[in-house]
Amino acid sequence: MKAVFVGPKFGNSAVRIEETGITDPGREDVLVKVVAAGLNPLDYNLINGNIVYNLKPVPHIPGSEVIGIVERESRSFKKGQRVMVYNRVFDGTCEMCRTHREHLCTNGGIWGVVTNGGYSEYVTVPEKNAIAIPDSIDNDTAVSIPIGALTAYRALKRAGASAGKKLLVYGASGNTGIFAIQFAGIMGMDVYGVSRKDWVREYGCTEVFGDGKVPDQFRADIVMNSLGTLFWDDAVKHIQTGGTLVSFGVLTGREAKLDIASLYTREVSIIGSTGGDLKDLTETLEIMKTHKFRVPVAKRFAFNDIGEALEEYSRIRDGRIIIEFA
Ligand SMILES: [Zn+2]
Repeated sequence: MKAVFVGPKFGNSAVRIEETGITDPGREDVLVKVVAAGLNPLDYNLINGNIVYNLKPVPHIPGSEVIGIVERESRSFKKGQRVMVYNRVFDGTCEMCRTHREHLCTNGGIWGVVTNGGYSEYVTVPEKNAIAIPDSIDNDTAVSIPIGALTAYRALKRAGASAGKKLLVYGASGNTGIFAIQFAGIMGMDVYGVSRKDWVREYGCTEVFGDGKVPDQFRADIVMNSLGTLFWDDAVKHIQTGGTLVSFGVLTGREAKLDIASLYTREVSIIGSTGGDLKDLTETLEIMKTHKFRVPVAKRFAFNDIGEALEEYSRIRDGRIIIEFA
């Protein structure tokens, strides 16, 4: 079988497709024929050498957001069943795992970073990492769940999202933003987006502000900033007194300044969120099973054209890039 490899040299031009040996999965493993994979900031940064901590093995198969078809019957799965990969490696025994925070496992990490990922014709994953996809969820939506939807859902949950609250999302047209605004709409929130793309309005925003164009007096109960440095000051300014800023990405940089007094005098919370645990994923699927979600797809690429997909990713684009196999 073939897979996408990068390393020990990194960068878009260092990516190549090579034959790889496939090992026979044990009884505890599920053999999955990959159907589609997402291209997220995580994958792009890894390919470009910005994620080196705990990167194993090198040369490395990237790809942390993957769906496919079970190729061979296993203990809990039938051949032909559609599954997604829950992309956290976890031991099930550490303090974090025992308190159902598998995504924070102290002996684990991100599948596709601490292990090879899914830009590959086949993958084998432990049964606990294979999650059945409900029939009502189409492939484009399903392939956006393990990172996009799950991250957005947990971030909203951690920030105390509930009906009637006002939400401001920076990067509303991004991989996670597009899900955040749809979940928030279902939860009955009043949703505002910050984006250069006006089409975001069609996904349920009451209003879309252009980059840096949020009105001075505007305040939201929850502000979501996954863009990092460039929008940090603006995001902090627009938190309502008693409100929460939730962050899970650093697309424009990872450093920020903070007026500590403005934090405590307004009793503002600033929290982090990352991915989600298995319970979050179950809840995400429950919501998505019964509500139709829309995923803007900018372009699809055959797996052999990974180089072009990476080039397209670095341009300003409308929506997701999906890599298709088979
Ligand atoms: Zn653990």
